[in-house]
Amino acid sequence: MTEHPARVVLVEDDEGIARPLAGALRNAGYDVEHVTTGRAALQAVGPLTDAVVLDLGLPDIDGVEVCRRLRRSYGEELPILVLTARASETDVVVGLDAGADDYVTKPFRLAELEARLRALLRRTRATAGAPEALVAQDVRVEPGPRRAYRGDEELELTPKEFDLLQVLLEHAGRVVSRDELMRRVWDEHWFGSTKTLDVHVSSLRRKLGDDPATPRYVTTVRGVGLRFEVEAP
Ligand code: CA
Repeated sequence: MTEHPARVVLVEDDEGIARPLAGALRNAGYDVEHVTTGRAALQAVGPLTDAVVLDLGLPDIDGVEVCRRLRRSYGEELPILVLTARASETDVVVGLDAGADDYVTKPFRLAELEARLRALLRRTRATAGAPEALVAQDVRVEPGPRRAYRGDEELELTPKEFDLLQVLLEHAGRVVSRDELMRRVWDEHWFGSTKTLDVHVSSLRRKLGDDPATPRYVTTVRGVGLRFEVEAP
């Protein structure tokens, strides 16, 4: 099993809870991304997120709805641990109906939350196993440790660039539609401009040393999407 730090997205608008919790999780070796709104959560979570710690009382989208959307986008594999201040049983059930794997009622002890999170990650990592490296031409992506290489040189990619490259390599030699890329790397309910995709594609190309006029790696198929070439032209 790959022992890369688990990527956890923490969704909590209350600073008094979020700050110590993020600190404790980082100290425990987690790679924590903290966001404070449902909308930001839907953008922050990606195909390579290992777990989500989700507060139900968020300022914009209700946490229950965020949970449902994450389930719809990422299926059963993604562990979601819900934080709830609503002690009433109905709310807890709603949280579980919405697809949460477990919940912790506020106020909670950090040690208890960590133990629950560890248990959820153990379960999913045990079933998923370590993902295989993806290779096309001289580009190699290792999803477990989240490392990418061109030849012997490691590429310094942002999290979204890495996700984008991984999705393209999973489909190497085939066209991936812009919609599919937006859905996999961002979120299917992301109605923002696809300019975001273009920006990330350009920076990924730059880091690969690819010339958009005569691309060797990432080809634009006009009106359809993008293809990572299996062979250099
Ligand atoms: Ca809250």
